[in-house]
Amino acid sequence: MIQFKDVSKTFKSKGVTTQALQHVSLTIEDGDMFGVIGFSGAGKSTLLRMVNGLEMPTEGHVEINGQDLSKVSHNEMRKLRKSIGMVFQQFNLLDSRTVFDNVAIPLRLNKVDKDTMHKKVMELLEYVNLADKADAYPGQLSGGQKQRVGIARALASDPKILLCDEATSALDPQTTKSILELLQDINKRLGITIVVITHEMAVVKEICHRVAVIESGVIKEMGRVVDIFTNPQSQTMKDFVTSIINMELPAGIK
Ligand code: ADP
Repeated sequence: MIQFKDVSKTFKSKGVTTQALQHVSLTIEDGDMFGVIGFSGAGKSTLLRMVNGLEMPTEGHVEINGQDLSKVSHNEMRKLRKSIGMVFQQFNLLDSRTVFDNVAIPLRLNKVDKDTMHKKVMELLEYVNLADKADAYPGQLSGGQKQRVGIARALASDPKILLCDEATSALDPQTTKSILELLQDINKRLGITIVVITHEMAVVKEICHRVAVIESGVIKEMGRVVDIFTNPQSQTMKDFVTSIINMELPAGIK
């Protein structure tokens, strides 16, 4: 379980103070598929980076399974980070390494023996449907294929939680759909808790069970996607819902 307890985050740089998060409280249950939606600058990345301790709260606490991240030892933090995978908008692959080697990175870091590593990487590549690309380089892949490599790499250390940072924002709608289906399968079949941050309503609508709507660092509303979608309260959500309805209705009845 992931818990934010009255979390605030202030950045100070070059005499400018930014309140990135203000009194954020939320609970994400194990096995959930949780979305955080908001416009650019709303505080989504800051929130996500707090789940794996890359940012620490200025006030309040973030807890994973009851463990307060500000109180864990260096060693415990390393262990915890291994149980949290991350998928990025720009894939973050090493261009000079093959697909196989990119997926193998976490296993090499964990000093997994060669045979086990080979078996695991090939299983993961089969799972994301890229076994035939093991020896290819990222530059030879489409955006969707690159993201599948990124997802396979994130799964290599058997995470309990997967954090997705705008994972489909660089992809076309058709490819987005296939990546969202993959994330859904990871959540259902592997039981991994998934947190997605996005500015795309379609992502939340397609795959999330619950959603938090964030505006200027404040959670404006939170709940089941179906409830928030049918009865939006915040201006952000009203704007998102309107934009999606306008997209989906035939022009004549807008
Ligand atoms: P989002 O992911 O929703 O676009 P962010 O969490 O990246 O939003 O940023 C929230 C606010 O915090 C923005 O105003 C951003 O400029 C600011 N911010 C984020 N990271 C830093 C940082 N390291 N230093 C200073 N300001 C930051």
